[in-house]
Amino acid sequence: MTSAAGQNRSSRIAGFHKKTPRERLDLVAAFAGLDETAVAHLANMGNLDPALADKLIENVIGTMNVPVGVATNMKIDGEDVLVPMATEESSVVAAVCNAGRQNYETGFSTSVSGNLMIAQVQAVEVRDPAAARLRILERRDEIKAACDACDPVLVSLGGGFRDLEVRLLDTPSGTMVITHLIVDTRDAMGANAVNTMAEKLAPAIAGWAQGRVYLRILSNLSDRRLARAHAVWRTADIGGEQVRDGIVSAYQFAAADPYRAATHNKGIMNGISAVVLATGNDTRAVEAGAHAYAARSGRYTSLTTYEVNADGDLSAAIELPLAVGLIGGATKVHPTARASLAILGVSTAERLARIIAAVGLAQNFSALKALATTGIQKGHMALHAQNIAMMAGAVGEEVDKVARILVERASVRMDVAAKVLEEVRGG
Ligand code: NAD
Repeated sequence: MTSAAGQNRSSRIAGFHKKTPRERLDLVAAFAGLDETAVAHLANMGNLDPALADKLIENVIGTMNVPVGVATNMKIDGEDVLVPMATEESSVVAAVCNAGRQNYETGFSTSVSGNLMIAQVQAVEVRDPAAARLRILERRDEIKAACDACDPVLVSLGGGFRDLEVRLLDTPSGTMVITHLIVDTRDAMGANAVNTMAEKLAPAIAGWAQGRVYLRILSNLSDRRLARAHAVWRTADIGGEQVRDGIVSAYQFAAADPYRAATHNKGIMNGISAVVLATGNDTRAVEAGAHAYAARSGRYTSLTTYEVNADGDLSAAIELPLAVGLIGGATKVHPTARASLAILGVSTAERLARIIAAVGLAQNFSALKALATTGIQKGHMALHAQNIAMMAGAVGEEVDKVARILVERASVRMDVAAKVLEEVRGG
């Protein structure tokens, strides 16, 4: 995609942020020696208005389109749901559809622990940390009033300050006094909302602690905003006792081993991050919260559990922090996010979190079932083969033809794809 790069390759470009996306793109093209095809590709922003893209982040030159697929077969709390998922990874959407098909009769049951976010205020150089902790706790009413005054809209919607915690943290530079402002952020993810409160309260907290305040920001370990889902897959519907026991064993492996748990939870996040992204929510916030929660015991472990219930069926559950919103960030302004929320038909952030938890469990069930039986590659290969075929240059109908031959020959490789493509083209 590139030709010779421009001669004057300086990354110091004065006023870059003040230019239009197209002007920036031309500068980048000159810097990198992009050819016309690459420039035309980047200049096409698809279904995102360049003016909006330019407002969402800094220094915009283009957009990155990721497919949005829809997971079918999901019944959540007795309601049928179609779930939009934005992902570049093959098999992710199919995995959710398959899991939902195998327990459609009973579906998924979900709940949440609340909508509470935590903002942290870090006080250091405190001479009497134990007493400082109490001095801050004694100001609870004052703190509540100051937090609520920051966000009258949130308060009018039933949200606002809920609780106060002060923790003492031993560190190499002494005991830190860490204040937690616990805030109900209703249908917002809440990062901006609680960060504003933490910044507002910081000078007063520094005064009460008689120390110096540095950091004032939310915690992504939003463990007062847990979403949960559980489901039963009947042994008869999933291929018998051996499959059931293989899934339980796969879970126990992840529960006991961080090396396995990382991959196990990555699979869960395949489903979760795809819905988080499709709805314009913050994938990194959710991922950070999930992995921190998985390590809460001091040892990183599985976010899901699998057991055999009294009927001999497979009983599965998931619990993780899910700070997602319907308002704030890109959720309300990105048209694809708005359309995704309309497909889901959700009217509260809580319902969105519950659906996302069910998707995470569904994803995990399918991955474990595949791993415990035929292995993951069989399902992956058909789609992977298409990618390989395209990389080898196949276009249009050639893609399916080449992919099918690669799978038949059990040799999904670029070099083989190139030869097969020649054969296909040769007739
Ligand atoms: P926001 O501030 O844009 O919107 C929330 C505000 O909307 C509330 O404070 C309230 O005043 C108002 N509001 C209107 N209707 C509401 C309703 N029904 N429920 C709740 N509030 C309502 O957004 P936010 O959710 O506070 O922040 C989310 C953004 O912050 C995301 O884009 C995220 O990426 C970003 N962010 C994340 C981090 C992090 O996760 N570490 C840090 C900084 C920023």
